[in-house]
Amino acid sequence: MKNNLDNIIEFLKGSNDFVVTSHISPDGDNLGSTLGMYYSLKNLGKNVYYVLDDNSPQNLTFLVENVEILKSSEFNMKDYNIVALDCGDKNRICLSDEIRDNAKKIICIDHHASNDYYGDLNYIDIDASSTCELVYNLLVRYRETEGIDLINETIATALYTGLATDTGNFAYSSTHPSSFEMAKELLLKGAKRDMIIQKVFQSNPYSYYKLLGEALNTLDIVDGKVASICVTKEMLKRYTISFNDVDGVTSYTRDIEGVEVGILLKEKKENEVKVSLRSKNYVDVSQIAQQFNGGGHVRAAGCTIYDSVENAKQKVLEAVLKTI
Ligand code: 5GP
Ligand code: MN
Repeated sequence: MKNNLDNIIEFLKGSNDFVVTSHISPDGDNLGSTLGMYYSLKNLGKNVYYVLDDNSPQNLTFLVENVEILKSSEFNMKDYNIVALDCGDKNRICLSDEIRDNAKKIICIDHHASNDYYGDLNYIDIDASSTCELVYNLLVRYRETEGIDLINETIATALYTGLATDTGNFAYSSTHPSSFEMAKELLLKGAKRDMIIQKVFQSNPYSYYKLLGEALNTLDIVDGKVASICVTKEMLKRYTISFNDVDGVTSYTRDIEGVEVGILLKEKKENEVKVSLRSKNYVDVSQIAQQFNGGGHVRAAGCTIYDSVENAKQKVLEAVLKTI
């Protein structure tokens, strides 16, 4: 079913048992929007479980410190609905197929260009800065229609985190006037902005910079327009950095003068490479990611290629160079 915010609000009001979840490889918008929905439903007296089969990056653990996040194996409820947040693809929902397929209804709230409206109810806006902005819109709509304001300091902090991370601190073209209006209200509601900025952007361990140094040595630029960096599993091991803790390296590929497309190739295990794509002005990287069964946004997308790092790089470069 297509978008309908009011139908979703009616559905949330009329049901009691929910699982909230998001995509694999959590980021700020993933955790922030899921937490925003989790606390909102809890505050409405609903029975809510947070299920996610992946670990938070180190710089975002402050958000989920006081929340019980279950693995699929720990969840054994029978009748429940899933609210999937920030997840553009049904197959990326980060819980077991069994839990996903046994849900009574799936509510999808998302802003990925590649989303195919897989939910039974969908609230999808591909122009939105973040899924946190969509959760915020839902809460504002709820306030307008029900006269109850659910946005407290905790929810404001969660939503501000996703807004700040998905907009690159209000820098990307997906940052709209509405994003600033939302930021204003969240700050007035007590969002802990200084803490968010320090934890998320200013708390890298020293070893991260050692890894970054090595990773920057792999920087390769083709035609002055396509830059790539490789992070191998050996590098992660050498500096004791987790796979989910190096996403910040991606921006180094894009932030070079004249570069249109930046690529980070991150080796997860032998013959499995996570690829992150970023663009600056005109290349739709979501289209490129979809050629490899991935997806995302026009300016930020990703996919997984089951091959060696070198081969994955050649395959992606070939696809990217056709668009340049
Ligand atoms: P990142 O490169 O930071 O992992 O992801 C960039 C954007 O693309 C995010 O919005 C992320 O959710 C999306 N994305 C990354 N990898 C995949 C993938 O394999 N499939 C889909 N559908 N989206 C992805
Ligand atoms: Mn997002």
